[in-house]
Amino acid sequence: MADIQKLIRRHLLQLKPYSSARDEYTGWEGVFLDANENALGTVGGGDYNRYPDPYQSAIKAELQSIKHVDPANIFLGNGSDEAIDLLYRAFCEPGEDEVLLLPPTYGMYEVSANINHIRTKTVSLTSDYQLNLPAIREAVTGQTKMIFVCSPNNPSGNCMRREDIVALLDLAPGLVIVDEAYIDFCPENTLLPLLAEYPNLVLLQTFSKAWGMANLRLGMAFAHREVIEILNRIKPPYNVNGLTQQLALKALQNRVEKEEMVAEILRQREYLERELAKLELVEHIYPSDANFLLVKVAGANQLYQDLIEEKVIVRNRSRVILCDECLRITVGTVEENLRLLAALTQISNR
Ligand SMILES: *Cc1c(COP(=O)(O)O)cnc(C)c1O
Repeated sequence: MADIQKLIRRHLLQLKPYSSARDEYTGWEGVFLDANENALGTVGGGDYNRYPDPYQSAIKAELQSIKHVDPANIFLGNGSDEAIDLLYRAFCEPGEDEVLLLPPTYGMYEVSANINHIRTKTVSLTSDYQLNLPAIREAVTGQTKMIFVCSPNNPSGNCMRREDIVALLDLAPGLVIVDEAYIDFCPENTLLPLLAEYPNLVLLQTFSKAWGMANLRLGMAFAHREVIEILNRIKPPYNVNGLTQQLALKALQNRVEKEEMVAEILRQREYLERELAKLELVEHIYPSDANFLLVKVAGANQLYQDLIEEKVIVRNRSRVILCDECLRITVGTVEENLRLLAALTQISNR
């Protein structure tokens, strides 16, 4: 089992982090003359003249009661993308370490590896978009610091089998990052309960999808406290702005609204699936646990362009491994889904 301290990049073990004014004095009452803020207020109105809480304790307290995870096991970032970048910077030595990616998968894992000059190895998923454990076992080396698993997977939409991820946790010499960006659409599949058992498990979740807050940029990482500690140590001090914190807190207090939206999106997904299946140009619809469908069509590139002409924009995934002739379609509102179906009918009748 991985020893977190041994996985952290050596030069960071001694790092003395930036100590902000809000680190040195943590109360909220008093006369604050310590951070060179504008005490008079905010130009243009609003209440934004003070630096935000660097550790977002109010949100973490709320997450603790919802997800039953201690705040010491929670990191919040400027989108999950920031957490991904910080994981590379905390654990992977440029030009030395490597990470394992399992395509077809979310593109940021590779982009972030390239930015940080970390070698990537790939083992593609099986034809039914599950983990290819024997091939992964072959590919793993002592330098494999992180393995990225996306579940539900973007772009295929399905969850990985839980027992396969557990096998991966047992065989990995480093961290296993499980990206649960879409987990709110199939909450029963979360691996959060495994956190206590596996110090090498890092779970990523986000406010960008089911919570409807993509614009605000807020991502969560749940992990062993030593993993969270190093992420906090190297992050920019005020990485989550105050407005985002305030609105996320409000969202967390409106969970019923989120559940209703999720239920409606799932109903619409089923409707779309049924209607798409009736179309001749649709060859296959992959089972989805998320808020989108991967759809195999006759002539994906042409159909993608034809849809754009009808002012319906989907994602063309046809150049991605194991996604030949596939479009990824996000579930929209009732009206948007009808527009999509009308456009498809129009195109097929030409
Ligand atoms: C959308 C998405 C995210 C979200 O990233 P944010 O930076 O939190 O917006 C993360 N992972 C996957 C697989 C996604 O599809």
